[in-house]
Amino acid sequence: MNTHFLLHNITYRWVIDSGATSHICRDRNMYHSYTSLSDYYVMLPNSTKVKIEGIRSIQLNDDIHLHNVLFIPSFRFNLLSLLKLLNENQFQFTMQSNNFVLQDLTTMRRIGIAKQDQGLLFFYFPESKFTFNNIDSCNLVSYDTWHKRLGHVPINVYNLIANKTILSSVDSHFHCSTCQLAKQNRLSFSNPNHFSPNFFDLLHADIWGPFRELTYDRFKYFLTLVEDKSRFTWIFLLKNKSDCAIVIPQFLSYIETPTCKNFVLF
Ligand SMILES: [Zn+2]
Repeated sequence: MNTHFLLHNITYRWVIDSGATSHICRDRNMYHSYTSLSDYYVMLPNSTKVKIEGIRSIQLNDDIHLHNVLFIPSFRFNLLSLLKLLNENQFQFTMQSNNFVLQDLTTMRRIGIAKQDQGLLFFYFPESKFTFNNIDSCNLVSYDTWHKRLGHVPINVYNLIANKTILSSVDSHFHCSTCQLAKQNRLSFSNPNHFSPNFFDLLHADIWGPFRELTYDRFKYFLTLVEDKSRFTWIFLLKNKSDCAIVIPQFLSYIETPTCKNFVLF
């Protein structure tokens, strides 16, 4: 967002006047619509009559539109009527010690500031956000660059911004690795499809029970043994958990072969 303030050209300086009932501009080129007036005057506090040359609208930037602005080229500064500005817009002007801020109450954005200079309160406002030149350059920047420049915004927020401005359209093929890592709050699981290289390198065991209803032979647990490489499964019925101390050694002796022995129990 372009936040340069129009500080340099005195033509663009606006003095905030809390007592003025109308906005007054001294530069005809600032009007985007204009109507000439022939016989209208404004009375100054010192009883001087000053001729009004014309009237209509001025757009200071995207936020601030001034209506019925009097064109009086003999004025030294442009005058911004604070009363008229606040009456015609949902704006708030706050004054604290050396801190003067104009805020849009609908968006809560700061849309202008004022600074004291030579006993006057000069209003400074951000330039319009987009001109035709920077619209062209916005389109030249790719979506992934905008995504990073805007602080890795999600697509729905990006679209909100893009609809209000002219940004590159969303690239659906772009995947941001930074966003993916930032959203993870734990390390990923290791590959669940891991298999041991040899049979009986690893044996998984689990006891289930007790059953609410005993079997006919009064068993109430079962032991499951799963061989890791083949995923072959054996099931043994148990009357007590402690029966594992008998069943498992029997099972190991059952599967023991000259090439498959010396099991490690843990
Ligand atoms: Zn990202």
